[in-house]
Amino acid sequence: MENIQEFKQYLQISRKAVILTHFKPDADALGSSLGLARYLKQKGHTVTVITPSDYPDFISWMPGNSDVFIFTKDKSEKAEALINQANLIFCLDFSSLNRINDLGEMIRKSPAKKVLIDHHLEPEKFADFEQWDDTAASTAELVFKLIVDLGDEALVDGETANCLYAGLMTDTGSFRHSNTSHQVFQIAAALVARGANPYKVSKLIYDTNTIERLRLMGYVLSEKLQVLPEYRTAYMVLSAEELKRFGSQTGDTEGLVNYGLSIKGIKLSVMISDRKDSIKLSLRSLGDFSVNEMARSHFGGGGHRNAAGGQTSLTLEETLKKFLTVLPLYKDQLQND
Ligand code: 5GP
Ligand code: MN
Repeated sequence: MENIQEFKQYLQISRKAVILTHFKPDADALGSSLGLARYLKQKGHTVTVITPSDYPDFISWMPGNSDVFIFTKDKSEKAEALINQANLIFCLDFSSLNRINDLGEMIRKSPAKKVLIDHHLEPEKFADFEQWDDTAASTAELVFKLIVDLGDEALVDGETANCLYAGLMTDTGSFRHSNTSHQVFQIAAALVARGANPYKVSKLIYDTNTIERLRLMGYVLSEKLQVLPEYRTAYMVLSAEELKRFGSQTGDTEGLVNYGLSIKGIKLSVMISDRKDSIKLSLRSLGDFSVNEMARSHFGGGGHRNAAGGQTSLTLEETLKKFLTVLPLYKDQLQND
């Protein structure tokens, strides 16, 4: 199944499909999955979206959300059954199977046809058909292109369009990041023409904060944000106790790392937070400085050139120490314009 024609042919028969997102899915991962699921259901396929973990409330308004199967260790047998019954497996918004933890091995073993739809750098080769493009700003964009290439743009209704628009909007930082291309605006316009409501989607995603989340943000900005001018770097470190103190929910820290990058002259911003089972790093950069390379080489992660993530199994203090040791390796790159 190497090209779109063969894939189209494969979809002529009703299939049992599973769509997977990465761990802690964001609006692009969930929106592109639920948008694709809705389209496939309209075409007569049976579809289940599986997420390897929970996700923030501010994306749970998406149509189809109530049917999402959220993987937890105690539901591992059910997940395995769903995957074993599937003859078509989609992996959306991630490109290496270790990003879906325990589910990765189940996918690797499955004889189902596998489809990768993604825009992250350096993808692992495991799929039978790839809609992969690292110049795409979002996976949602690639799902839309796939539907168009299959000749089904007319099947994108308002609900599907809202899901895909959510992915496009958030992965471009509301059409502000350097990935905001001509194509992004063209697809955004096409989605709005098909019924997406930009006002409603941005309201649901950005303006449904809890007071605790705003207080956490205030605390981080006033107490936790550190700047290292010689490395043009900002960083913030959050302990499990601090997250607990502010009643932090999944997604509450999302976007905080960008504030570091908004400081004049700063080229690298990093958030290090204690997620109990591991220490998570969120990295953002400006221009040519590749946080994908930094995350991949030192923190078991990856992502895009200007937005990446990783993790360690060290303590929070050790992780900070490691980051501060790694930083000088990049001093020249960080000082360049
Ligand atoms: P965030 O910092 O918002 O969690 O992630 C930024 C970008 O890096 C996203 O595109 C996300 O998919 C990717 N990313 C986050 N964590 C990891 C990781 O552990 N491994 C890899 N390969 N990518 C990650
Ligand atoms: Mn994405």
